[in-house]
Amino acid sequence: MDRGTKAAVLVTGGAGFIGAHTAKALHDRGYLPVVYDNLSSGFRDAVRWGPFVHGDIRDERALGDALAEHGIKAVIHFAGLIEVGRSVAKPDLFWEHNVAGTVSLLGAMRDRGVGRLVFSSSAAVYGQGGRGPLETIPEDAPKAPASPYGDTKLACEWMIQAQCRAYGLTGVALRYFNAAGADPSDQIGEAHEPETHLIPLAIAAALGDGKPLTVFGDDFDTPDGTCLRDYIHVSDLAAAHVAALEADLPAGAFEAVNVGTGQGASVFEVVKAVGQAVGHAVPHSIGARRAGDPASLVANPSRARELLGWSATRSSLDQIVADALRWERTPRYGAGVRGERKMQASVD
Ligand code: UDP
Repeated sequence: MDRGTKAAVLVTGGAGFIGAHTAKALHDRGYLPVVYDNLSSGFRDAVRWGPFVHGDIRDERALGDALAEHGIKAVIHFAGLIEVGRSVAKPDLFWEHNVAGTVSLLGAMRDRGVGRLVFSSSAAVYGQGGRGPLETIPEDAPKAPASPYGDTKLACEWMIQAQCRAYGLTGVALRYFNAAGADPSDQIGEAHEPETHLIPLAIAAALGDGKPLTVFGDDFDTPDGTCLRDYIHVSDLAAAHVAALEADLPAGAFEAVNVGTGQGASVFEVVKAVGQAVGHAVPHSIGARRAGDPASLVANPSRARELLGWSATRSSLDQIVADALRWERTPRYGAGVRGERKMQASVD
């Protein structure tokens, strides 16, 4: 898409963490983000930069109506289920929401002639890999998802690619590594229920709002024995979506692109960074490994640079933690998600 056309862009799942940040980035760039979300895990208060349509991703008719009513030129598709553990217990739910939901969306886009899609994929498509602890992952690395969640993301990529070939859709799948942090304005931030991610849990533990942190294993084949992850600031991630929307790609093209920094941080390094930001150590203990956790997931981000002209600018661990901490101390939406403190703060 051309830059700054003020075009309307449908953001499915735009009331969620990454979706809301992307809606803001679209707005800042001159687009009109139209959020389509069923609020099953997102927050109405996170929709601040354009119209809101309450709808389910499996409802093809409602999607078609939204595309027509708002004159949508492109779609960024986040809506779906994300908890890896839950996907193991309830895989049918994930295939229904993530895969059948994407079938509905693709059908509505085809029928309405919407020709551009940016899809929320995941490093989960790579699974355990067979990599050494210090190897980064390029896009053509073997795909071996370790969970039904990862399976559904890979299945969606295949389906989108086929639809690009068949109907001239232009598609970009962004394979996220570990999204974290919050927008510097503190209007939006992370609020999952239940929260399972390391950085918000470590902050909650440090602030006394949550349980002490359990470090899931310290006997991995990594320099300090804890898992390495590639933490990417959510504002950088949002910028990658705008870059993918504007990438100069022909009709029918499909591209899958890693969104990460290329730098791994261990769980202990994160715990230390949170402790430094808060001013005291994070209460924690060492527990068993969590099922399905690979020792290392670190992106090779060079394709994003070449194809999208994008690279991370706000993703130092200290910056991510500082922004996440400010958000956790800000009583906004998500009250109650992380316990009494936030609930109380928003009532005061
Ligand atoms: N982790 C941990 N304790 C927790 C939550 C996460 O030690 O309470 C570890 C987890 O094993 C992984 C890293 O932190 O190595 C990042 O996990 P997260 O759930 O944030 O993201 P994932 O990599 O699973 O997408």
